[in-house]
Amino acid sequence: MTIIRVEPFILHVPVTGSSISDSTHTLSHWGVVGCRIHTDDGRIGTGFTGTHAHLAGDRLVTDCIATCYADLLVGEDEADITRLWQKLARHPPVQWIGRAGITHIALGAVDIALWDLKAQRAGQPLWKLLGGATSDRVTAYNTDIGWLSIPDDELIAGSRRVVEEEGFRGVKIKVGSADIARDLKRLEAVRRAIGPHVTMAIDANGRWDLPTCLRFCRGAEGLDILWFEEPLWYDDVAGHVRLAAQGGIPVALGEQLYTAEAFADFIARGALHYVQPDVTRLAGITEYIRVAEAAHAARLPVVAHAGDMSQVHVHLAFWHPATTMLEYIPWIRTCFAEPVTVTDGDAIRPEQPGAGTAVKPEAFARFAKSLS
Ligand code: MG
Repeated sequence: MTIIRVEPFILHVPVTGSSISDSTHTLSHWGVVGCRIHTDDGRIGTGFTGTHAHLAGDRLVTDCIATCYADLLVGEDEADITRLWQKLARHPPVQWIGRAGITHIALGAVDIALWDLKAQRAGQPLWKLLGGATSDRVTAYNTDIGWLSIPDDELIAGSRRVVEEEGFRGVKIKVGSADIARDLKRLEAVRRAIGPHVTMAIDANGRWDLPTCLRFCRGAEGLDILWFEEPLWYDDVAGHVRLAAQGGIPVALGEQLYTAEAFADFIARGALHYVQPDVTRLAGITEYIRVAEAAHAARLPVVAHAGDMSQVHVHLAFWHPATTMLEYIPWIRTCFAEPVTVTDGDAIRPEQPGAGTAVKPEAFARFAKSLS
C-alpha cells in the first residue's frame, strides 16, 4: 500500500509523582514524540521517540519529520522498510546536518511506524513478524523506585514493596551523587531490604570520572551489583575500557549511542559487558536489529534502555535471543491500546498485531501539545 500522509505528534505524559531526578536530569513529564503514517487503504502506523518533554526540542524532532522526511515518504510503498531507511538516512542534505541527534531519532520514529504498519498488515505482533519468540518468559526489572531524588526511607520501602508485593526480581538504583558515601549507604540499605537473591543494577548517568568510578567500585565490593550503567561520559570509549578491566563491576551502556557504528566500537574494544540499545535513540527497529545482532555475535547480553518505556522493546525482548532482561517504568503505559505489563516480575508477551505503539484517542486528547 502507498503512504499518503505523515502526521507528527507530541505528547507530554506525567512521570510518577511530581518529578524525578537522576544525577544529570530532572523531569516532570516524558515526551512521546513521533508520527502516524497513513496509507491509502486507511491504515495507520505509529512510531515515536522518548524525550524529556522539552517542547522546543520536541518540535525540532517533529519539524524534522514534517519538513525533511514526509515528502520522501509520501507516494512510497510502506513495505519497503530497508530501502526507505536508506533513502531517509542517506538523503544527502539531511545526512550532512546530522547522522545522529535530532535527524536520527526522528528517523527512528518513522522506522518504528513503518514496522508497526508491517506487523499490522501481517496480522501479527512484531515479535512474531521478526521470526517468533525465542523465550516464553522475559524477566523485568524496576527502575521507577530508584531515582536519586527519592528520599532514603522511600527508596528502601519502594524497593521492598516491588520485590515483596509485585514480584520483581530485579531493581535499578541511581547513583552519581557528589557524595559517594551517600550512594553507597543507600545501596547497602537497599541490598539489606531486598535480600541476596534480587538483582541490583546501578546507573550514574554519565556523571563521574574514572578515578571516582574506581573509588566507588572499591566501596561497592560485596554489594553484588549486576551492572554499573553509564559510569562515565557517554562517548568515552577508552575510559570505559579501563573501567571494564579494572573496576570489578560489569559495565553497561548504550542509551546515549545513536548508531550501530558507535556500538561496534564499544563492543570491539571491550568497553562494556551489557549492551543497552534504545530503539528510540537509534534509528528505529531497523538499526536496533543490527546492534542486537552485533552484541549477540560478541556473546554479550542485550538489555534495552526503555526510551519507549518498553512498548516496542517488549516485542524485541521476546524475539531476540541475546536479551536477558526488560526495563520497566510505567509512566506512559496508559496511553497505549496494549500497554506493557509485568506480572510476578515477568513481562507479559503482547499478542495484538503491530509494534505496540498504537496510542489511544483519549491519550491524544489529554496529553497532546501544539506542534508550533
Ligand atoms: Mg540509564
